[in-house]
Amino acid sequence: MTLVIQTIRSVFFSVLFNMTIFLLLIISSFNPAYAKTKIKRITAKIFNPVVIAIDAGHGGQDPGATGQHGLQEKQLTLNVARHLALLMNKDSMFKAILTRNGDDFISVIARLDIARAHKVNLLISIHADAAPNRKVRGASVWLLSYRRAETEMGRWLEQHEKQSELLGGAGRVLSNKKANPYLSTTVLDLQFSHSQRVSYKVALDLLKELQKIGFIHKSNPENASFGVLRSPDIPSLLVETGFISHLSEEKLLDTDRHQKKIAQALYKGIRHYFLTHSLQITHQKVSDSLIRHTVKRGETLFGLSSKYKVSISAIKKVNQMKSDVISIGKTMMIPV
Ligand SMILES: [Zn+2]
Repeated sequence: MTLVIQTIRSVFFSVLFNMTIFLLLIISSFNPAYAKTKIKRITAKIFNPVVIAIDAGHGGQDPGATGQHGLQEKQLTLNVARHLALLMNKDSMFKAILTRNGDDFISVIARLDIARAHKVNLLISIHADAAPNRKVRGASVWLLSYRRAETEMGRWLEQHEKQSELLGGAGRVLSNKKANPYLSTTVLDLQFSHSQRVSYKVALDLLKELQKIGFIHKSNPENASFGVLRSPDIPSLLVETGFISHLSEEKLLDTDRHQKKIAQALYKGIRHYFLTHSLQITHQKVSDSLIRHTVKRGETLFGLSSKYKVSISAIKKVNQMKSDVISIGKTMMIPV
């Protein structure tokens, strides 16, 4: 039965796709540039869904925080995660993966292994806060801290046998036996700053939506070193949906209506980010031909460009430079 439904669905989508392309071809006779970008976008959306790992915090023997009325964090997080997965899987732009879909205990490492195995583009972990001060309330969004990322990057550099699992191109470079150690560090650095940029921007979109549905505890994304926030290669976020220790917030968090509202807000925030940033940018591949260069006295951008036979604009792009000035002692990445 499912096979029949799947076949009907794929036939429907292919007919729809062909019709859209046909229409665009007609439009293209009037405006070829418009049609070309539109075709590219539609093709990318149909064939490359954005893969999101939705991680319901805690589970099994680990209940997480428990409220005064008995609401357990593990149940709340699972409910929100399921609602969110449902919303995402209804949208052809996304494919959602749940790291747990039952009351199971899953270690942080296992959660990240699940995300890596599905080559996710983003990981969102759902939690609820608790504090001794029972007046504190509101949602917050957390990102991987730089210090934690550095520790994790060091660990990855040592784990040779696991390096190929790293996402976003870093794995491919690091698992190459010929890669030199400087290159490996640079590639991981690049991968992390990329993940960090994506996480930060998504976090802003999430906060914008979350504040429409309730209180906000921290109005900016915060850096943290807990839970699943430990992968330098996967853009990751941790959302504290509210304070379970706050009496009326616990009551609110316990309602299906509010859980759905949270899921809706997270969905809208993520969707907004991916509508404004293409998957190519989000899932930027790190070049496997970068070398590290520490600037010496008297060296200029022009000099480096002719030394490595690479354009000035390419060097500036990789190093995210706005001006042509390079300072002595600065470590630059050179694409060769
Ligand atoms: Zn938690």
